Amino acid sequence: MDRRSNGSTGPSSSVNGGPATRSGYHAPQPNYNSRAVQEALEQLASIDLIDLCNESKVEFCRATRDLRSCGRQVKDVLISCGHASLCAECSQRCDVCPICRIPIPKNVAKLCRRLYDQCLEAHLIPKRGDKRLQEKEDGDEQISADVQRLYSLFDVALENNLVSLICHYVTDVCLDESAVSSDPVIAFLLDEVVVKDWCKRTFQKIITELQGIYNLEAEPMKSMLSLLLKFSAQLVGICNVIEVLDSSFEGSLSTQLLDLHQLQESILKTKQHMEVMIWCVRREFLEKVRPRYTDFTSWHSLVRERKSAAIKRSWPDSVNNSEESSGREGTLFIEDALVNLEIEQGNTEKLVEGLKLGSLQKDGVSSILRSKIEGVAGCYPFENVRAAVDILFLCGGSDLVVAKQAIFLYYLFDRHWTMPDEQWRHLLEDFGATFAIPRQLLLESLIFYLLDDHTDKALQAWFTCLWSGCGIS
Ligand SMILES: [Zn+2]
Ligand SMILES: [Zn+2]
Repeated sequence: MDRRSNGSTGPSSSVNGGPATRSGYHAPQPNYNSRAVQEALEQLASIDLIDLCNESKVEFCRATRDLRSCGRQVKDVLISCGHASLCAECSQRCDVCPICRIPIPKNVAKLCRRLYDQCLEAHLIPKRGDKRLQEKEDGDEQISADVQRLYSLFDVALENNLVSLICHYVTDVCLDESAVSSDPVIAFLLDEVVVKDWCKRTFQKIITELQGIYNLEAEPMKSMLSLLLKFSAQLVGICNVIEVLDSSFEGSLSTQLLDLHQLQESILKTKQHMEVMIWCVRREFLEKVRPRYTDFTSWHSLVRERKSAAIKRSWPDSVNNSEESSGREGTLFIEDALVNLEIEQGNTEKLVEGLKLGSLQKDGVSSILRSKIEGVAGCYPFENVRAAVDILFLCGGSDLVVAKQAIFLYYLFDRHWTMPDEQWRHLLEDFGATFAIPRQLLLESLIFYLLDDHTDKALQAWFTCLWSGCGIS
């Protein structure tokens, strides 16, 4: 039994609560068959991107009444001139637009809902966030309210497969030297740093949601699969935006670029980890596939036996074969491979501030902490499938993903080898197919595993496997 049977399912797993208790889940959901939603999305998709700034800006009614402005928030634009200058009530009384003095026609439709409010009313933007915004009404707070509105519109784009809109906002608006504004708020919204911060904020939100899901048990996690797939698609979307930003930041401050690259690395790792998690969730973390070892301790001591055998092979003259006193690294394939991950980990350790990918592991602790104390190699054999996924795919660089997959396969071989084929081989085939792993690599992982294991039984099995084509296709 390699499942953790200790208190890991205790109170700590419910600290974060399920995702259902998180923001937005009980808010009214947009009805995608409704006209309101379709019109809002159509307008968003076809908007002139520079207008996204104007749509994001909070405007207050400029009608004068007793020499004081009315002060209500403007939710519509005047059809006649396109300015968001009057609230609905004042537009009935005024003859001209207070900004441009163009006459407001009588007896026809005068107003058209602003994009942000249209999205709000269609529930594409959750209302709760908007209420909070309306309370902040002055100075710096106002800028942040405008930024929040722009972000809400970006969120709607991300949710609705319109991420190219954000990419184009960077290339066509932020990078357009002629797109300037004397309005400080608009000028601020035109800066690509605003977009970068959106990426960071959105990624942080996804991480928070994932924490809740990843702390569930295997069964309830399965019911969250569609949500995981949605987040996976959104991470791809954010990555696309970051790639566009990356080229736009060329020649700018290296700190900006570094920040961006660290964000990108964190997102890539989260996504790679999530892909393996999704595979595991579908397979219920192989909980129903029994490992070949009766308990974890027996496996652990077997791996140590293999290691000292490896040392004996490498240094046959060594008087003392115990690994501790020899002070030499064993030559097990798995250890070498894990040590490589560790070296790379040092370089990628500094991830984006405030983003703790470690919080994505089961209960937000244990596995990675252990990998830091004992070294990644010291964690082998991984306690269970989940620990393997967390240690491998949350540590080390994202560019090592192929090596990580190979190690994961090795782990699966090691865990199940000598079990009857029909109980577990299909899982490896499925893993290979899901992650487009070449048959060659599947074979290599198996061979590395078997060659480390020098017992006659393993070698015999290896030859049999080579002759029979390994049963892996
Ligand atoms: Zn008014
Ligand atoms: Zn006007």
